Amino acid sequence: MKSNFAIAAHCVVSIACLLTGAIAASAAVDCPGNPGAVGTSRTISVDPTEHRRIGTMQYPETLPLRDHEVVLTFDDGPLPAHTNGILDILAGQCVKATFFMVGRMAKEFPETARRVYDEGHSIGTHSENHPFRFGEMAPEHIKSEIDDGIAHVSEALGDPAKVAPFFRIPGLRRAEGVEAYLAELGIMVWSADFPADDWRHISSTQVIRLALSRLEAKGKGILLLHDIQERTLVALPVILRELKARGYRIVHVVPASQAMPKTPTEQQQWFFNVSPDRTPMSKLSVQSVWLAQAPLRSRPSEVVLKTKSSAVFDIDSANDIDPKGVPKRSSDLSASKTMGHTQLPGSWPITASGMTPGSVE
Ligand SMILES: [Zn+2]
Repeated sequence: MKSNFAIAAHCVVSIACLLTGAIAASAAVDCPGNPGAVGTSRTISVDPTEHRRIGTMQYPETLPLRDHEVVLTFDDGPLPAHTNGILDILAGQCVKATFFMVGRMAKEFPETARRVYDEGHSIGTHSENHPFRFGEMAPEHIKSEIDDGIAHVSEALGDPAKVAPFFRIPGLRRAEGVEAYLAELGIMVWSADFPADDWRHISSTQVIRLALSRLEAKGKGILLLHDIQERTLVALPVILRELKARGYRIVHVVPASQAMPKTPTEQQQWFFNVSPDRTPMSKLSVQSVWLAQAPLRSRPSEVVLKTKSSAVFDIDSANDIDPKGVPKRSSDLSASKTMGHTQLPGSWPITASGMTPGSVE
């Protein structure tokens, strides 16, 4: 029987051992202290002047993601009490995300804003005060909200160059005047591909189920979350663990620069392509998720999604989640079941304390 020393000596010269060691070292370098981390699979660099509006919740184009790729976004912060926890979780998993900050929040909590930047995340803006009914405001008010938000986030970071030319419209209240002004500034409007309704008064378990079921329905995309919500902080570790278990990969998005020229893409990659087995649900998602392109006056305050697909999670059933909070696959989702109730996110003014009114609209 070989001694431990002999086994070790054998290992030193074994190609297999060397390879194993190389892989382990690589993983350790990729995410120190957590070789099993979710990680960030790739970074894509985008030119905001070429693709001005993205996110299938509202626009024809979205990010040029491959199947099973996910981009994480967090709105409405920074708010130290929750943003720091979100940052801890992302750092522990070596996951990079995009934060859409509110100017007033960054002004009040500049250290947290700087931490987001220092940890390698992208930072876009989300107006100065997150006003209610953004798209319906007077043009001058819209401009000052956009300008002041950028100014205060820049001030908090200490350098305007640290702010990405990315903007998410508060409450996704898009309007031609808003989009035209942002285009004039060379800023890319980010809608999203699916939300998790974490701004609503729902449980963190429901946030997990919504995030995963909507992702499974689409197969890839931009997930809209909020870093000012306790339920999001609680849900995030489970969401990340499930993403990894289901073979999803995290993609980080940065604005094109001299240091990082735009990632080469074909125009068709910017349109949402679905694989055939996802078609029934995906079609439904794209056509009904938000009705956000409909005129505001005719838009229902609540949109109910229904599906006939069996390849999704039944998120209305009380039986589809195990005690650990992990959703189970539903094999029999009836046509009459509701997939979820959605409202436009963040449709209220937020305060620097992060508190939001109990109801929306
Ligand atoms: Zn918001």
